[in-house]
Amino acid sequence: MRRNRSGAKGLYAEFIYVEVDCGAGKIFRRGFTTFETCPNCGWRFEREEGYWTGAMAVNLILSEIIVAIVVIPLAARQVPLLPLLAIGVPAVALLPVLFYRHSKALWMCLDFMVHPVGLL
Ligand SMILES: [Zn+2]
Repeated sequence: MRRNRSGAKGLYAEFIYVEVDCGAGKIFRRGFTTFETCPNCGWRFEREEGYWTGAMAVNLILSEIIVAIVVIPLAARQVPLLPLLAIGVPAVALLPVLFYRHSKALWMCLDFMVHPVGLL
């Protein structure tokens, strides 16, 4: 049984890492490893070659926006360079790791909202 998970329901599915088409299957096997297909409905996660490039873009854009929100106001207040580097360099390295799972799930949700296709 297929349910449409676009819009707010799709975003909710992203936050709890369930697949957007059926809303029941999990996306991640363990850690950063995704299932090839939804364990519940068989929906193929990687829709085409290079599909996760969009997820990487979402991940980097979110990470850089957060770093910019923190570091730019500090730099504008003439905070010395060393504390800025101590905050910015680890953040640039760690935030993409922290956002990895969310970015994949969010990318699937965004893609599903734009292209609500069926099983491949
Ligand atoms: Zn599913």
